[in-house]
Amino acid sequence: MAHEHEADLGVHQRVEDRDRCAAREPEDVVHALALERLDEPFGSGRELLGHGHPPHGRVRRIWAGSSPLAHAPRLRTVPNRATASQRDAWLDASAGKAPFERRICVQRNGPVVLSARSSRNPWRCPQGILGISARYDRAVDSYLEHAAAKLVALDTVSAHSDEAAAAFVADELDGLGFRVALHADLVDGVRKVSVVASAGPPEPDGLLVSGHLDVVPFAGQPGWTREPLRLAVEGDRVYGRGTSDMKGFVAACLAAARRFDRATLARPLVFAFTCDEEIGCAGAARLAPVLASLLGDLPLPRLCWIGEPTDWRVVRAHKGIVQCDVHARGRGGHSSVPEAGVNAIALAGRALVAIGEVQARFRERPDDAWRDLFPEAPYPTFNFGTIAGGTAGNVIAESCAVRLTYRPLPGADPLAPYEALRARLARVEPVDFGSALRGEIALGAPLVVPGLDTPRGSALEKALLEVLGAEDVGGAPFCTDGGRLAAIGVRSLVCGPGELAQAHQPDESIGREALARTPDVILAVLGRLLGAAAR
Ligand SMILES: [Zn+2]
Repeated sequence: MAHEHEADLGVHQRVEDRDRCAAREPEDVVHALALERLDEPFGSGRELLGHGHPPHGRVRRIWAGSSPLAHAPRLRTVPNRATASQRDAWLDASAGKAPFERRICVQRNGPVVLSARSSRNPWRCPQGILGISARYDRAVDSYLEHAAAKLVALDTVSAHSDEAAAAFVADELDGLGFRVALHADLVDGVRKVSVVASAGPPEPDGLLVSGHLDVVPFAGQPGWTREPLRLAVEGDRVYGRGTSDMKGFVAACLAAARRFDRATLARPLVFAFTCDEEIGCAGAARLAPVLASLLGDLPLPRLCWIGEPTDWRVVRAHKGIVQCDVHARGRGGHSSVPEAGVNAIALAGRALVAIGEVQARFRERPDDAWRDLFPEAPYPTFNFGTIAGGTAGNVIAESCAVRLTYRPLPGADPLAPYEALRARLARVEPVDFGSALRGEIALGAPLVVPGLDTPRGSALEKALLEVLGAEDVGGAPFCTDGGRLAAIGVRSLVCGPGELAQAHQPDESIGREALARTPDVILAVLGRLLGAAAR
């Protein structure tokens, strides 16, 4: 239901009055104060908040006090991080100094302070303040939409830097008073950043809440009918790369963080937003060993909630993932004389058949102990991810590489299937179909991402089940950062609003209702576990 309030400040409202106004008004009214003698058209005022940080709620109407406001410049943004006293200091210090400046500063449940000045129109602070007010429709949390849109718009495909997305998340949480640490690495010359933001007293039994900032590639992926990097709300779905996996959840964390009072935390809350999750949970692998040291005097929480898309199912276990490459090496030459060469693609074909036999053997021997959690496949599953080889149709292929992944059951030796593969490939004859010469088939080193096997009965499990009105705890077929965190003694549960069927897909989307509900779910869990109370 829409829920509207309106308040007008009136012309010549003074800055000094804003706290009184804010205290008096309902929380879904945000006031804007602007200084007079501004020199460019303001537009409808909608752009004004659109260019800044929209507060929660959707702008329904902006009221302008009198004509000078119609000549105000379009405003740009400064981070929503100023406290009232910082803002006062900034207002004082800014008066009459820099040659041109345009700022907007928004404080939730408080006034928006707009200011603008130019060399032509020196700012005369604080006289002549005009008031405008905005009316909000609280049925839509426009901050959540804003944060999700911002994150989706930033290209964080794992091959690229996620620095801008990390900076956005860090700024938002820093502005809310979280202690923020960035953990950056140069990976193949690309800067990869994870964000750790904490709040609360240095007590035990805190909670980690985690998500990843990176997404899988979309370029060249067939099936897209929308802009991957533009958040689009259509009907009951919200579209864009990462909406389900898992920028929607990250945005909801930011939205939730704005809605509780940090002073009410009885135990620590730590947000950990990682990079490179989609490439072997590599960001979490780098972050985990230093995570405790980034928290200062806060003890490392032992429980972690990872908001990967499970459609709100609580997941306590998932398989790991092991990646390895099969290299076939032959001997090149003209295709008209196959007997003088060894075709590496043909060798790879023999290797694929052999790997398929290993896969079939696992499938024939399911592990009954995991039937509950992985009913579809209580055994390691395999996938041929990519194949690359050869140079032209009339050339004998000299090399061919197959990238293979398999997903071992948690709790078992993740390298047991690798050893089975190696043994089977050793028995493959490295000869092609048109030559008696021998080539070579080699199995590359494995890259292991551990699985997750969190014991039942944690306080987080209880809180999630209560809040979600659920009883079951299950398994998931995909991998998360939870396996990396287990290595430092953190037990994770996976539970989030998106759907696995949407993850990594063209036209990726998330249910609008599910996304809108997420900050409420987060707040309810933080309330139960950490004592966090709404503002
Ligand atoms: Zn994910």
